[in-house]
Amino acid sequence: RIIAATPASPNEEAIERALRPKQLDEYVGQEKIRDQLQIFITAARQRREALDHTLLFGPPGLGKTTLAHIIAREMGVNLRQTSGPVLERAGDLAALLTNLEANDVLFIDEIHRLSPVVEEILYPALEDYQIDIMIGEGPAARSVRLDLQPFTLVGATTRAGMLTNPLRDRFGIVARLEFYTPQQLGKIVTRSASLLGAPIMDDGAFEIAKRSRGTPRIANRLLRRVRDYAEVKGNGEITKAMADAALVMLDVDPVGFDVMDRKLLEAVLFKFGGGPVGLDNLAAAIGEERDTIEDVLEPYLIQQGYLQRTPRGRIATPAAYTHFGVTAPRAGPN
Ligand code: ADP
Repeated sequence: RIIAATPASPNEEAIERALRPKQLDEYVGQEKIRDQLQIFITAARQRREALDHTLLFGPPGLGKTTLAHIIAREMGVNLRQTSGPVLERAGDLAALLTNLEANDVLFIDEIHRLSPVVEEILYPALEDYQIDIMIGEGPAARSVRLDLQPFTLVGATTRAGMLTNPLRDRFGIVARLEFYTPQQLGKIVTRSASLLGAPIMDDGAFEIAKRSRGTPRIANRLLRRVRDYAEVKGNGEITKAMADAALVMLDVDPVGFDVMDRKLLEAVLFKFGGGPVGLDNLAAAIGEERDTIEDVLEPYLIQQGYLQRTPRGRIATPAAYTHFGVTAPRAGPN
């Protein structure tokens, strides 16, 4: 997939880093979260304490990593970054924790994928800034308690429901990131274009924004592809017409659905008669992982009102029928 919601390569990641806002007031949208963090960060700084542990959740590409970096910067502390699947053994986490300085931020991406043994170590660390580590092996093994510096865990996950209860309960601040409006994404595209030195018209930025699935990462990625197109096919200026032509070439349709979005909706509509269809059947029909469907594809389709999640399975809404130019069957008596 050209327009996947996760970074594709080290090069992409480097560009993403360059486009990342560094301060809270450069961070577009998510007003509620921004306002809350502004207050909690200011209060923690005044007391010279660590910020409370913070859980950020929402679909990929909405700005969780960016926010973690901003929190550390606004707190004036270091950020150490890792991810759930990378921390295989208890010792991996212990090494990170014991190296933290006072009030530092430890950012754990995909925190729902921590192994149970690593999670065990984390609980006392979060609660009392202490860890118990085992030294030696066999009958001579003993447990040693180590004191840590106070720190802030910032955890990121695509779905808060995938965290164990004891872990979720230890976060004092829980923020759910929302999809961005086209207006907000327009601002992000305009800012990114200026950082990339790409000339862009307001209506060109808005065209990209409207077709970015409410997601800054996708907006930035489409911007770079549209810039390529405008440089080769035109004089480099990103106008509405240029953006539209490039997005057609990239298979991004007028409402911003890409190939996979359409494949999913078409399967629900035409293979399963509009639904309800269970997740496993749907995954098999479109050849996609369950997790990708739940984390990446569905949230936007549901938020935009094309798909509904019911206890019996996924259902296409009348908007989905309209999008594909077919008439919705009239609701039956049952
Ligand atoms: P996540 O961690 O949720 O997957 P990231 O924080 O990596 O998402 O964000 C992806 C890209 O989108 C970043 O490169 C950043 O430039 C951009 N971005 C995300 N949120 C914002 C925002 N609120 N304002 C401006 N740019 C943003």
